[in-house]
Amino acid sequence: MNLVIDDPPAVAAAARSSCSLEDYLALPDHSMDGRIAEARARLGATTLILGHHYQRDEVIRFADATGDSYKLSKIGAETGAKYLVFCGVHFMAESADVLGHDGQQVILPDLSAGCSMADMAEISQVEACWEALEHVGLADETVPLTYMNSTAAIKAFCGEHGGLVCTSSNAGAAFQWAFARGKRILFLPDQHLGRNTGFAMGIPLNKMVVWDPWGLQGGQTKQSLAASRVLLWKGHCAVHQRFLPSHVDQVRAKYPGIQVIVHPECRFEVCQKSDALGSTERLIALVEQAPAGQMFAIGTEIHLVNRMAKRFAGQDKKIITLDDTGCLCTTMYRISPQHLAWALENLVEGRVMNRIQVRPSVKRWAKVALDRMLEVG
Ligand code: SF4
Repeated sequence: MNLVIDDPPAVAAAARSSCSLEDYLALPDHSMDGRIAEARARLGATTLILGHHYQRDEVIRFADATGDSYKLSKIGAETGAKYLVFCGVHFMAESADVLGHDGQQVILPDLSAGCSMADMAEISQVEACWEALEHVGLADETVPLTYMNSTAAIKAFCGEHGGLVCTSSNAGAAFQWAFARGKRILFLPDQHLGRNTGFAMGIPLNKMVVWDPWGLQGGQTKQSLAASRVLLWKGHCAVHQRFLPSHVDQVRAKYPGIQVIVHPECRFEVCQKSDALGSTERLIALVEQAPAGQMFAIGTEIHLVNRMAKRFAGQDKKIITLDDTGCLCTTMYRISPQHLAWALENLVEGRVMNRIQVRPSVKRWAKVALDRMLEVG
């Protein structure tokens, strides 16, 4: 289809006549604003748009609720809306489906919006790891614990094997829950959150060993596995792993008095050098609670950092990114205004596109693992 993109009415009329995603993707971002707003208004209370903190501005401005993945899933489950349009990544939409009520349908505007960290723990690899632990007689004393940033299949594995799910804000409480039930934790899929959490509880680094899913017996011996308190899955977030200890040194040298606050998905060495670490919600709260005039370098995804910089500028709080090249979550960025407009306009026409549905058997055990997380708070 040939469109004259300088002629907005022609663009709108031509694009509306088709529901092909390719047609939407050929249009400029700004031409989507009015269409998203109109479709949103027509859908009314039937639909809730959920926007993750790392989402780009052109999309998150249309969100009915913003937050981290767990907060958004909870909001979704508590609403009466039939359709949840999740502007985030795949595992988040899965969690919303697991926690959602009967009849609720979750839509991910772009199915290619995945999470590289979640993809680092395949269910077949985790099952192989567990079999290896069984083989050396250690599975019975090991509790599997997965970060929210994992597939529903991994969450279900944890639920079925006596474990649970945690977020970056309740990982410490989840560790305590697990240690009350076993000698050792198998922590999936982010080695950094696992190491940072374990160390904060007083577990020495040499008692936290890395399980490499590509190595023979995870790259460990029976003795090293038996001596471990935490078995860290060899996964990481490509965004947060880019922050380095040298970045902390550089901002401290350049801006005396600056506070460095980072997400616990960052490397251990970066977290140790920082003034505080916490989930996205906690990072926001730390800035909110700071006195006027305070400056922060924040180690998390660049869209959230930029939004915080704008939001707090009026309170005389200066915010910069810890790494001035900026760290972008490229998979989350795949949700564009065009994808959102396409999903919403199809919904207006009664078509549910890109529905995320977790299989009932997986859903059941994933819910068990998520419910246990609610127990720990
Ligand atoms: S920031 Fe990292 S952990 Fe979060 S969705 Fe992106 S890749 Fe996954």
